[in-house]
Amino acid sequence: MNFFRRERIVGKTPDQLRLMRGAGLVVARTLELLQQHAVPGVTTKELDAIAEEHIRSLGAVPSFLGYHGFTGTICTSVNEEIVHGIPGPRVLAEGDLISIDCGAILEGWHGDAAISTIVGGREAGRAEDLELIDATEKALYAGIAALTVDRSLYEVGAAVEDSIIASGNEHDRVYGIVEDYVGHGIGTAMHMDPQVPNYRCREKGPMVTEGTTVAIEPMITLGDQANEVLADDWTVVTLDGSRAAHWEHSVAVMREGLWILTALDGGAAKLAEVGAPFAPLD
Ligand code: MG
Ligand code: MG
Repeated sequence: MNFFRRERIVGKTPDQLRLMRGAGLVVARTLELLQQHAVPGVTTKELDAIAEEHIRSLGAVPSFLGYHGFTGTICTSVNEEIVHGIPGPRVLAEGDLISIDCGAILEGWHGDAAISTIVGGREAGRAEDLELIDATEKALYAGIAALTVDRSLYEVGAAVEDSIIASGNEHDRVYGIVEDYVGHGIGTAMHMDPQVPNYRCREKGPMVTEGTTVAIEPMITLGDQANEVLADDWTVVTLDGSRAAHWEHSVAVMREGLWILTALDGGAAKLAEVGAPFAPLD
């Protein structure tokens, strides 16, 4: 170990990033489809079948299926489930808060993204759940906007934390930031170095370089962030039973700006909202 040199992220070439965009678009389109199907009465296993069929129809392969023995194409985490919920016979009810995480491989490159939504649409949601979903999504884009070449990767976590605290203050609430699960590098594998914490760190972390690709994925709770893994060895739930939201995007960082590989529009709209430069390579 060399204590005097910071870890340096190896960036991808423009051609590699364009291949990753292909995988990212498969994930984006699949999540768009799943959002439409997340209605009362559907089971999480049915959503999973829709996802697998759609991913394969686009010539891609589900990356979660078989990952360390995982049995789903997607993760479906409902209400107090934070992340890694296994699709099964559970029937979704109006007003449930579901987080759907999806990953796909196209031509050897990975995309990974997650959304949170209310079953039956926003009008069916509790006010605090809608605020939680929106706060988590806002924190995701705050984190993404902090990705800058030659800056510390850990500025992402600081931006996520600041955004969540601000959203909590707005609603007179203290949200929990789940610290046990973090974002990650992504490329020819789903989970690669470096890790990307969703909170402020004492260390500076690695420097962001041209062509860096990372998945940013805040997981936020209405109550305390303390959590446990259920006996199924996957599903992570809050200890206090409070509901959780999870948003994720895979992002490429160029000197000129950002390209959200798993957003349908590449991030054009959301990056404009947060004032971050948009630099697609397609
Ligand atoms: Mg994911
Ligand atoms: Mg991920």
